[in-house]
Amino acid sequence: MRRVAILGGGIAGLTATYELSQIYRQNESLHVALYESSTRLGGIVETVREGEFIIEGGPDAWVSEKPWARELAIELGLEDELIYSNDDQRKTYILIDSILKAMPDGMRMMIPSDLDALDASDLFGDESRQAFYREIGRAQELKTSSPSHDESVSDFVRRHFGNEVLHKVGAPLLSGVFGGDVTQLSVRAVMAPFVALEREHGSLIVGLQARNASTQKLPIFTTLRSGLGTLIDRMVAAIPQEWIHLGISAVSLERNREGWTVHTSAGSDRFDSVLIATPLHIARNLLAPLNPGAVEKMQMEASSAVVVGLGFEDAERLPLPSGFGFLVPAGSNQLLLACTFMDQKFPHRVPAGGRLLRAFFGGNSAERVQCCGNDEVAAIARMELARILGPLPEPRVIVVRRWPLSLPQYTVGHLESMTELDRRIRGLKGLALLGNGYRGVGLPDLIRDARAAARGCV
Ligand SMILES: Cc1cc2nc3c(=O)[nH]c(=O)nc-3n(C[C@H](O)[C@H](O)[C@H](O)COP(=O)(O)OP(=O)(O)OC[C@H]3O[C@@H](n4cnc5c(N)ncnc54)[C@H](O)[C@@H]3O)c2cc1C
Repeated sequence: MRRVAILGGGIAGLTATYELSQIYRQNESLHVALYESSTRLGGIVETVREGEFIIEGGPDAWVSEKPWARELAIELGLEDELIYSNDDQRKTYILIDSILKAMPDGMRMMIPSDLDALDASDLFGDESRQAFYREIGRAQELKTSSPSHDESVSDFVRRHFGNEVLHKVGAPLLSGVFGGDVTQLSVRAVMAPFVALEREHGSLIVGLQARNASTQKLPIFTTLRSGLGTLIDRMVAAIPQEWIHLGISAVSLERNREGWTVHTSAGSDRFDSVLIATPLHIARNLLAPLNPGAVEKMQMEASSAVVVGLGFEDAERLPLPSGFGFLVPAGSNQLLLACTFMDQKFPHRVPAGGRLLRAFFGGNSAERVQCCGNDEVAAIARMELARILGPLPEPRVIVVRRWPLSLPQYTVGHLESMTELDRRIRGLKGLALLGNGYRGVGLPDLIRDARAAARGCV
């Protein structure tokens, strides 16, 4: 009988447990214990359903290009539930001098693919517009000078397009996803496809145009009609219920000749393999007595996020520009980092005629806001939104979620650190690290790695 412990029941730990449950169906000589310190599974993935409002407390979708979340959803019988972003209405706004200015159509993060749309847009000044055109002409120079080492996102974006593009688009976009500081974030860890475009084409604009011409156009984001919580519910339903231990925290680990002893808040048990899928700072504490050398490579900081969902019954009383939402660059005198117009980004999020806004606070703002009570957090979100969108009607539904230390910062040199971390924990036979501290924060990557790790321990 092979015994496996999984510590942490977020998407990573739960997916690993689900994968083992599928193996168990063919081979019953497997015992698994999933320890989750809270009273629910899913971690940051949480859907709140109020009437016909479907409000995501954490992630709202996955990037369609990466197949692993979609594959899992289909395997769980959720093919009919897959829905896609309304890309024909896709537009993102940037708050500049208190006005929402649209990003040009066809932008992929900070790279324009449609130069006519760029010319028609007033988001960038003449200097940046010229910098975009110059980037195309500099393709050869950028290709030959492509650095052989990692660099920060800000250095990378500045080399291609200059400061204004970094400040108006690059920094707020990356902060929205990673809650981080672009002067510290590793371009190789968080923008790997763009580094590959630079190596191949030099110019990111030329590379993006070539890629667009050669690849099948998928909707940008995929999610589930009834919310991402359904992915969690389906996995939970497929796992033997006696494997699941809610409200039990992993406290420490011991390693001996026979394998592993996991000490939890409810007692101790012995296992052959342990998958640590807790947040990074908890994984660090668990590993510190066993392998201080590995823990040295896990010193990344993590930033917090606060999400406020506001559902309104009467969309006509809250007119919005068409599009998916807006980003707020640093220095705009707002605590808010971004807002998504959920009812415009996806179908099936609100009752007929309804509206759903999702306000997002990250980095330092999240640190400040998360200390407030729910009413106060909601009041801050409403005030900040009203300054930008005009007076808001009374919301019918308010959902506040705090995610402290939820987004580890992949700083320059992150990939090398992860290779070294792998080397250092290789000596700890039967142990694997899962979750968003290591090789990606997005759901598809976490799902892919969790399934592979689960298969690797039986
Ligand atoms: C606000 C927000 C929006 C996001 N949006 C998107 C998006 O749209 N698309 C996307 O792909 N990604 C998105 N992400 C990223 C993605 O949601 C996360 O990276 C992912 O959910 C993390 O999953 P995880 O399993 O690694 O960690 P978690 O979800 O944090 O799970 C870890 C679990 O471990 C448990 N735990 C902690 N300590 C212990 C202990 N001692 N013993 C046992 N259990 C313990 C916790 O309670 C938790 O349930 C978003 C993240 C945030 C914060």
